[in-house]
This record gives sequence, C-alpha cells and structure tokens, in this order.
Amino acid sequence: MKFELITIFPDFFRGPLEYGIVRRARESGLVEINIHDLRSFTKDKHRTVDDRPFGGGEGMVLKPEPIFDCLEFLRVAARQERISHQVKESVVLLSPQGELFNQRIAAEMSQLDRLFLICGRYEGVDERVSEYLADREISVGDFVLSGGELPAAIIVDAVTRLLPGALGNEASARTESFGTGEVNCRLPVDAEGKRIPDSTISAGGLLDYPHYTRPSDFRGMVVPEALASGDHEAIRRWRRKQALEKTLRNRPELLDRVDLSKEDREIVERLKALGSRR
Ligand code: SAH
Repeated sequence: MKFELITIFPDFFRGPLEYGIVRRARESGLVEINIHDLRSFTKDKHRTVDDRPFGGGEGMVLKPEPIFDCLEFLRVAARQERISHQVKESVVLLSPQGELFNQRIAAEMSQLDRLFLICGRYEGVDERVSEYLADREISVGDFVLSGGELPAAIIVDAVTRLLPGALGNEASARTESFGTGEVNCRLPVDAEGKRIPDSTISAGGLLDYPHYTRPSDFRGMVVPEALASGDHEAIRRWRRKQALEKTLRNRPELLDRVDLSKEDREIVERLKALGSRR
C-alpha cells in the first residue's frame, strides 16, 4: 500500500514513521510512504503556499493551486472513480471539522492501494480542496492541533498495523481494543459454520483486557491470580470480564454498538448491578 503525504514540513515525518512496526513495514516493502513538499509545487520566486483569508480575519490559509498541482502530478485517479470504488484510492484532508477517525475507518483504509493525506497548517486549507479535490475530511479528535502532520502520522500508523504481515501475529489486531474479527481476518464461525459474535474470539469492539508481565510480585503489587493459574478457560473468562468492566467504566457508549454473547451480557448485568449498589 502507498501513502502519499502532502505537507509544507516534509522533515516533520523524520522520526514518527521510522520506528517499530511502521519501519519494518517500510523495509519489507509492505508499505511505501512518500512525502511531498508542497513548496515544490509553487510557481513563484518565494514559493508561497499560503495567503490572507477572503473576508478578513485572523491568520493565513493554504492556497489551493499547489495542492491541486501536487495531486495532479501524482496522477491521482479521478474523484468519481475513487468515490465509486472503481479504483482503490482515497484523498483525505486532515481537519478538525472532519469525521472522527476510528478503527473502522482505519480498517476501511487498509483495503486501499493508495491513500493521499493532505496536511493543513495555519487557519486551515482553502475550502475548495475539501469541496472539489478531497473525498473526505478526517479529524483525529475534538481538539485543534497546529497542523495535519501528526494526524497524518497517526493514520499511517493505525492503517499500517492492520495490513496482513505488519504485526507478525495476525491475531493481535483483532484482540486489541476496538478490534473486530473482521479486520483482514476470517469471520468468526462455530463448528457448523454459523456466525458467532466477534466478542467470543476478539475484542469485538471493546477495549483490550489488562496485560501483566514478570515479576508476579512487584513491590507487593501482585498479578491477578487467574492469570497465573494456567487454566485457559479461567484466563479467558477473567480477561473478558476485565475488558467489559473497563469498557463500561471508560467508554460505556461502545457497549451499545457491540455484538455481545450471552455470557457477556450476564457479566455486564452483574457489573451494572454492582455499580448501582455502590
Ligand atoms: N481553523 C481551523 C483549525 C486549523 S488547524 C478550525 O478552527 O477548525 C490547522 C490544520 O491542522 C488544519 O488545517 C488540519 O489540517 C490540522 N488539524 C488540526 N487539528 C486537527 C484534528 N483534530 N484532526 C485533523 N487535523 C487537524
């Protein structure tokens, strides 16, 4: 898969995309990350990428020409072909006004051949980029950052680790927080081939369960007994209960969207009853 990053600060990506899983994915050729300096697509002597806003007001706005020129130079497919999924390409404008990025969108993006990420700066990007060039606007959270580079790096990271072969262990992506059985994995089915809730084999859209490693007693803080028991069924049940408990505590809204098994629903009822008694 190819990522095309469009930025006025190409050096910004030295570092964030050069470690761990993303680094290995680049080295093995699983992903190619190309960083394009918007200034090389300007035509004036000063290499101007920004200008004052029409209508007045604070700050500067990124001009449309260099961005359109850059994507045309990169031979982006026509918007209509992208939107109708005739080609596996997508153009994303990073913006706090965008749709909130999440694991579902990351999984969707991991199916693409080529993803263009346009990083804004200053007051933002001339709206015609969003209106006529980009397929969608994406935000990484309800806060304002000073540029789209960190959000772009977040997207590259989240998408790369979902590509088959990136993690080394394919099961990880689905047992992690928000993971579902469907992300580049076979759908969960029982012995007769009937679909079973994701939750029985994956995080199923919940938060991950807690992890512990050695020593089992660290300054008197001990690892939960169930984990040291070696009883796989007891470990599975304990982890599931913990994942449900943490989701209920930190992100209760996730539970409404999740495909829960009968066992899960019983645990949630018990946890809720305990909570209301407190
Ligand atoms: N005036 C804008 C903020 C501009 S911030 C507003 O109030 O909505 C400058 C650039 O940083 C944006 O163009 C965008 O590319 C990036 N950016 C800032 N916060 C972001 C977020 N939460 N998600 C994605 N991109 C963001």
